Amino acid sequence: MKRFDLHSLRFHDASEVWRTLPVDVAPFVFGGLDYRVPGDAVDATLTAARVGDNLTLTLELETLVAGPCQRCLVDAEQAIAARGVEYVRHGESEGDEEDEGYVTAFQVDLERWVRDLVADALPQKFLCREDCRGLCPICGADLNADPDHAHEGA
Ligand SMILES: [Zn+2]
Ligand SMILES: [Zn+2]
Repeated sequence: MKRFDLHSLRFHDASEVWRTLPVDVAPFVFGGLDYRVPGDAVDATLTAARVGDNLTLTLELETLVAGPCQRCLVDAEQAIAARGVEYVRHGESEGDEEDEGYVTAFQVDLERWVRDLVADALPQKFLCREDCRGLCPICGADLNADPDHAHEGA
């Protein structure tokens, strides 16, 4: 799923409804390396709360991100969790060009929203483990496998 139509929500008497939605997450580049989420999709939970005529949308997700450690390049995984909030005013004009949010004419751009949430939730450095020793800058040997690795005079 890439988009969600808010018209399809049925509040009945509730002030809040939620849906769990499978959202596509295309493989992406981070720090010059390629990453992806398992199955190229996440289950995101969209909660819509009515406040008068307006809506508050909350999008939450938890996923693994898989890709190379940025120090030693071994395949690594990181669990991330992210949460975003959007406000939708009633009667917002269709296709409002000034709106930089994720909702246009009651259509939620889930794909873009999830992609931004995942990007924001990534750690500053994507590592196989916090104390990864990385690769030898001289010969490229894996220093995790060989902690005593050294070069003459270095
Ligand atoms: Zn590493
Ligand atoms: Zn070396």
